[in-house]
Amino acid sequence: MHNTSALSSDNLSSGRNSRYIFVTGGVSSSLGKGIISASLAKLLQARGYNVTIQKLDPYINVDPGTLNPYEHGECYVTVDGAETDLDLGHYERFLNVCTTQSNNITTGRIYQSVINKERRGEYLGKTVQIIPHITDEIKRCVQILGSENEFDFVITEIGGTVGDIESLPYVEAVRQMKWECPDDTIVIHLTLIPYLSAAGELKTKPTQHSVKQLLELGVQPDILVCRTEHELNAGIRSKLARFCNVAPDSVIQSIDADTIYDVPLLMKDEKLDEVVLSKLGVNLECVPPANLDKWNNFINRYKNPERTVKIGLIGKYVELKDSYKSIAEALDHAGANLKTGIELDWIHSEQINEINITDKLGHLDGILVAPGFGSRGIDGKLSAIKYARTNNIPFFGICLGMQCAVVEFARNVLGLKEAHSSEIKEYTPHPVIDLMTEQKSITNMGGTMRLGAYPCDLKEGSKAREIYGVESVEERHRHRYEFNEVYREQFEEAGMIATGINPVSGLVEIVEIPDHRYFLASQFHPEYASTVIAPHPLFISFIGACIENAK
Ligand code: GLN
Repeated sequence: MHNTSALSSDNLSSGRNSRYIFVTGGVSSSLGKGIISASLAKLLQARGYNVTIQKLDPYINVDPGTLNPYEHGECYVTVDGAETDLDLGHYERFLNVCTTQSNNITTGRIYQSVINKERRGEYLGKTVQIIPHITDEIKRCVQILGSENEFDFVITEIGGTVGDIESLPYVEAVRQMKWECPDDTIVIHLTLIPYLSAAGELKTKPTQHSVKQLLELGVQPDILVCRTEHELNAGIRSKLARFCNVAPDSVIQSIDADTIYDVPLLMKDEKLDEVVLSKLGVNLECVPPANLDKWNNFINRYKNPERTVKIGLIGKYVELKDSYKSIAEALDHAGANLKTGIELDWIHSEQINEINITDKLGHLDGILVAPGFGSRGIDGKLSAIKYARTNNIPFFGICLGMQCAVVEFARNVLGLKEAHSSEIKEYTPHPVIDLMTEQKSITNMGGTMRLGAYPCDLKEGSKAREIYGVESVEERHRHRYEFNEVYREQFEEAGMIATGINPVSGLVEIVEIPDHRYFLASQFHPEYASTVIAPHPLFISFIGACIENAK
């Protein structure tokens, strides 16, 4: 991923700081603020600007690391080890630029920082209040991204819906920023235009109310992005403009799309980037047009597959597809790269057993065992891995998926029948997956995870080395347990080889079975690093093996 400025700051009139674009939401949640933000960022980036996107989450958790995936979808991990909202995954996949902890702030983090400052006496005896102390801290977290002259634009998405109690301090911070730097700050409000089928009409009233709510809080949105199932005609657009106090060209339609990857193109057709640039005082004649060649190339391949492969994704949170968002996206990126459609079969690991295994998995071209925590569904994962290993079906294990592959091999090949991960069975006689010694003395689990990017040396002659084509890589982690080094020799003699090793700690990062058609598993999470224009090599090679298997 890159981060180099393609335009000189002249294009933004020299000496000026970053411009701030806030994205708020109204009427309903789940309208796709993250995708709209990422799409706008893509369009600005395609014109040569450096852009970053930030998510402000109004909940009290300090970070989403402790949230159940059922409630909030996957926890996305950045290179610097921040556990963040899944929207950061969209930002990275769209922009091919790394984000960090600064890109995801929660109310819990804001309050934690203010309270720490109060304890240190930094407020000099003042009464600490939401205004100005909490709002100042919010503004500091936004402006810090713009202060280093690295980004031409900072897009800040405010989670939740305007009117929620939790989001009030954020909207107030936006009001203050608009007041303090009116030329450098704009607000895009994303709302819903519902269609009443009985009346055959699109309705603008909920949007009018939502904008009124923003106005009551002192914020006039500059642009409305209107999510709709049907085209907005000129009449509706002008009605929205008039009642919501925005320019007619600032009413942008966001019609339901076949895929999220169409949204930047739809926003381009609606001229969202042009309206944003003009509102921020940029002379459009001085800015190159958006170059979306690579994006269009991806979409072409994605929409015109020459074949399809069936992949089974075995996990325990399959009911909520957002729990494995990055994996599903990484499979799509790799599929598009190989002009192959991915038919993803989400299989609940609790529903697999030795008896129904052929019914459940017999139709698949490849099997992927997902990450996870805790014991639920482990036996189904072990059965799925045994099935893939013994039937020569391409297998890819990620994190817990690798740990299960190691346990399965220990039990069924090494004959260590009671082998297990000590996460699942604390006093197993054969802890082939275990905590490292230094972690064992820590009783509080918080902060003991291996998080973020770590180096991994790839063994010469291995499949991993061939796939990556380099000697060493860095990949992101999010786990506590590790391959137990004590057993490594036994595994390697029996045919499961450690082919990726952390050069500093010696920890095993990748295992492979060279005698198998494709059996590779990683302790790290490659899915976090896959982007639209740079699909991840491990996913490409796995899909490649599935294509071969399907023939
Ligand atoms: N639960 C396992 C561990 O903590 C694996 C975690 C994961 O799959 N992300 O090591």
